[in-house]
Amino acid sequence: MLLYRLAPEGFFAVRRPSDDAVRMLHSDPYVDDPESWKVGRRMDLGSCPLMSPVVPGKIVGVGRNYRAHAEELGNEVPTEPLLFLKSPSSIVGPRAPIVLPPVSERVEYEGEVAVVLRHTLRHASRAEAERAILGVCCACDVTARDLQRRDATFARAKSFDSFCPLGPGIRVGLSVDELEVTTRVNGETRQHGTSREMLWGVLDLLVYTSSMMTLEPADVVLTGTPAGVGALGDGDRVEVEVQGVGTLENPVESWKQS
Ligand code: ZN
Repeated sequence: MLLYRLAPEGFFAVRRPSDDAVRMLHSDPYVDDPESWKVGRRMDLGSCPLMSPVVPGKIVGVGRNYRAHAEELGNEVPTEPLLFLKSPSSIVGPRAPIVLPPVSERVEYEGEVAVVLRHTLRHASRAEAERAILGVCCACDVTARDLQRRDATFARAKSFDSFCPLGPGIRVGLSVDELEVTTRVNGETRQHGTSREMLWGVLDLLVYTSSMMTLEPADVVLTGTPAGVGALGDGDRVEVEVQGVGTLENPVESWKQS
């Protein structure tokens, strides 16, 4: 099942992967079990503008979770997960522009699998972490690489408005053991990775993160990016595809001062 949020009200809607039509969801996806979700009228997906499928309290990012990506940036492979926080105000939905801030001379894409939580996790076991997952969606962890290198923390480089496209929907019930992510820029494949290449898998990351900060319903964990990151420019079009989820597409535009 795919879970969407529809503009402008933010109502939830669901779609079976094999179906073109979405149906209004009359249950609360953060309270009710997916097996018991009640659905309403059918709508054509093409006529429904999509918002980010989730509004999290926090976004946890993981740096250098793929060996080849750590190496391409000249970084050591970490010995424990390298966590950072990305501001929820950086989120945009499918087709919304990624805006290049004038203060950065190098903004890069990072295609990633995003994990969305359904339940609270605190000092969780792997089994508890697995039960707490609502599903996964596509994410682009847009990063001002020059500012990331200049600053002592990642806060500024990761959190400009529009630096966290999420979507198009949340795939509920997909195994987190076999995830596959592909990034394309202007139709050309730039990144490809699978969860088997992650230094820490999804459940490891949830166990580790929840040992220091409580994860809450709708919180999002970005699971790291494969090798192949690169710069974005005005007029580019970025696609992040997670198999079984769909493709998140966003145009890129420069900040224009009037
Ligand atoms: Zn990232």
